[in-house]
Amino acid sequence: MFDRIVLASGNAGKLREFGRWFAERGITVLPQSDFNVPECPEPHPTFIENAIAKARHASRFSGLPALADDSGICAVALGGAPGIFSARFAGDNPKSDAANNAKLSAELAGKADKSCYYVCVLVLVRHENDPQPLIAEGIWRGVWQNEAAGSGGFGYDPHFFLSEQGCTAAELSAETKNRISHRGLALSELKRKIDLL
Ligand code: IMP
Repeated sequence: MFDRIVLASGNAGKLREFGRWFAERGITVLPQSDFNVPECPEPHPTFIENAIAKARHASRFSGLPALADDSGICAVALGGAPGIFSARFAGDNPKSDAANNAKLSAELAGKADKSCYYVCVLVLVRHENDPQPLIAEGIWRGVWQNEAAGSGGFGYDPHFFLSEQGCTAAELSAETKNRISHRGLALSELKRKIDLL
């Protein structure tokens, strides 16, 4: 199939997580920094379009199959916002989890429906113009909790309450979060599709 792929991200944690699983199949995952991939524009309104753009971009500059992810949180009462703007919801300069959380708390303050969900989309293209990218999506549902709780995870996790677990995502162990999260679900789905190739 292929023995090397490039990861369209500079995140060391993602490289480790994806690298471990692909290594079991004899596939080496390389960071896009190895190929001087320039920053990819993400002009699209959806996770899936941005993930496909990032994967094609990394494949074009590396000449290898490429894996990209895009993720964020969507509030139902806000029509899916912040969505693709999750990382910079409260501004870009600098990006701040605390400011993002304060903004989402304020926007949901007057809303009866506080349900929200994390989305993760993974896209694997075998070459730049692959007409049939492998696509996997994970959705993780929760309820926005005004008061922050827990110190694990990152981003919106201290406010993301899980009724089944009775705690926020920031109160889960890393192992449990990886298993049940949007990223964990998307990765399982992608693995299933790769194993079918
Ligand atoms: P990225 O796709 O890794 O760049 O993530 C986009 C943004 O979505 C992050 O900066 C966070 O604000 C938010 N996000 C994505 N996944 C999570 C998560 O597991 N917990 C908390 N926030 C997340």
